[in-house]
Amino acid sequence: MITTKVLQQLAETHGTPLFVIDHDVLRGNYATFKKYLPRVQAYFAIKANPDPAIIKTMFDAGASFDASSVAEFRAVYENIKDRPEQEQHEWIWENIIYANPIKATETLMELDKYKPLVTFDNPDEIQKIKEFAPNAGLVLRLRVSNAGAMVELSSKFGAAPEEAVDMILEADKAGLVVEGLSFHVGSQTTNFENYVQAIDLAALIFRQAKERGYDKMNLLDIGGGFPAPYDDSVQPFSELAKRINAELERLFPPEVKILAEPGRFIVATACTSVAKIIGKAVRHGKLCYYIDDGVYHTFSGIIFDHCQYRLESFKEGPAQICTVFGPTCDGLDVITMTEELPSNLERGDLLFSRNIGAYSAATSTWFNGFPPAKVVHVNR
Ligand SMILES: *Cc1c(COP(=O)(O)O)cnc(C)c1O
Repeated sequence: MITTKVLQQLAETHGTPLFVIDHDVLRGNYATFKKYLPRVQAYFAIKANPDPAIIKTMFDAGASFDASSVAEFRAVYENIKDRPEQEQHEWIWENIIYANPIKATETLMELDKYKPLVTFDNPDEIQKIKEFAPNAGLVLRLRVSNAGAMVELSSKFGAAPEEAVDMILEADKAGLVVEGLSFHVGSQTTNFENYVQAIDLAALIFRQAKERGYDKMNLLDIGGGFPAPYDDSVQPFSELAKRINAELERLFPPEVKILAEPGRFIVATACTSVAKIIGKAVRHGKLCYYIDDGVYHTFSGIIFDHCQYRLESFKEGPAQICTVFGPTCDGLDVITMTEELPSNLERGDLLFSRNIGAYSAATSTWFNGFPPAKVVHVNR
């Protein structure tokens, strides 16, 4: 973990607001994922944090990728563009899944020349893929329970279980190949039962498809959702892995390729933000600090990711419950109303926030003329 001393030095050198990415932690999280889920090929979900240096580090560590837009696809492709075409195609087939179930026709045309794996979850998408990306391999995204996840996805994506086999057969009839199934149990899933139920459902659909004559499925994609250890209430990853491994072992023979799309788990703990106090006021009897980063910027996960971050001070002092606001003129720009901070902080003092790597810089804006935090890399 990056020390407070180093954070202060970096803030002094680079100014604030600052977003520090520790590449040792990225590599460590990837290694942990591989260690506890040895059968699962990890496709880093780029949307959690698309910094090109993160993609490069994951690429060098041997990761595969979930790219869900043309821009994300190109950012991965950058790493293999000098290889011969045939090698590129093989690498893409083995290491990229385009996991956005709804794709614009322009996107499909762009993807088609690379013959990638793409997900789908409805009949209209089958027709689009047939017309605009007939060379793609298909993966059917199932609707599964997202109960207890911090971020819910099942209302937007996923084929109903009772329609799944029909849809596989429809794609087959259209001349496409369905390579397997995928699901997403919801982001920051602390309810591990979601994974068990979803794997059981996938096994059932595999069996039903076979009974109805379709036997070309050979992969299962268990999606993302692996929780970051934001606080002590999150059970260890090893516990979740144990349950997933047992279920995979029980239901899927070794020839079925298993993949996953961890986003948050890889990047959340790898990044720390540092911001500066630019103003201080007492409002309705409560101490309020104003800092130079906020919910339109690095703390955007408070809005989009339903995530709450701790703020810490480098300085010590008598603590009290404070409100911390971002720098914009919008009343929505509130980072916390309940953080315990020293009451003696002054203009120019710094606050920092750990475990802020996922869905933070990724969704930062230029709102009100305030630019996103400067990014610095350590242990690259
Ligand atoms: C966002 C997303 C992920 C990553 O989810 P995490 O909860 O960050 O692990 C994986 N797969 C798909 C299809 C996604 O949309």
